[in-house]
Amino acid sequence: MIRYEQVTKRYPSGYEGLKDVSFHIEPGEMVFLTGPSGAGKSTLLKLTGLLERCTRGQVIVDNRNLAQMRPSEIPYHRRKVGMIFQDHRLLHDRPVFDNVALPLVVAGVGREEIGRRVRAALDQVGLLKKERSMPITLSGGEQQRVGIARAVVTRPPVLLADEPTGNLDPRLSAEIMKLFERFNQVGVTLLIASHDVSLIRRMGKRILVLDQGALTHDLPPGALNR
Ligand code: ADP
Repeated sequence: MIRYEQVTKRYPSGYEGLKDVSFHIEPGEMVFLTGPSGAGKSTLLKLTGLLERCTRGQVIVDNRNLAQMRPSEIPYHRRKVGMIFQDHRLLHDRPVFDNVALPLVVAGVGREEIGRRVRAALDQVGLLKKERSMPITLSGGEQQRVGIARAVVTRPPVLLADEPTGNLDPRLSAEIMKLFERFNQVGVTLLIASHDVSLIRRMGKRILVLDQGALTHDLPPGALNR
């Protein structure tokens, strides 16, 4: 589902955020991406979501080589790859409903269908009763769940999350992980960047480890639990 072949990302500054990275994530896998701050985790997620392009190598998502994607196809790719950020990136002057509806509005989906799908997404994250609330009135964990509802509202086969529990306490982090596992159980492929080693260890999933832009380990599920 996500294939990297000798991928290098050089930023305009000349700095290489990723160096010769290769791996393959099968459809339906749930994988953690870890490594110290500055290791290249966000860079890898941005290349996968096509927020940035690689300098060398190939990034292939759902059998499409992203380098060959025409600008007109990029919105389609974005709907196929849901992205979740640590800081939620919500519109604070809009209620929850509008925030979650945004990707569907951009895609030109009709009003009735938007209502149906937004409520289905809010239901999945347990926030059905909050659709009229403003994000500022919600707790950090609830705001993160609005961000997750927005990411899944287009029913993407791939979800990418960048430090999704970075600002949450262990209990709320565990709730977010449960949500991710539920999406995974219905076939969604997940790649989750986190530097929370104890959380990653508890999850017992495959782990990709980056260090200074290089992929140093690709640990199979349960490798840290033995
Ligand atoms: P992580 O998510 O693991 O903390 P990042 O992918 O954000 O790491 O960053 C990897 C490296 O690339 C860091 O050294 C960072 O400073 C650098 N970097 C990230 N974005 C840019 C950019 N737009 N321009 C230049 N350097 C960048």
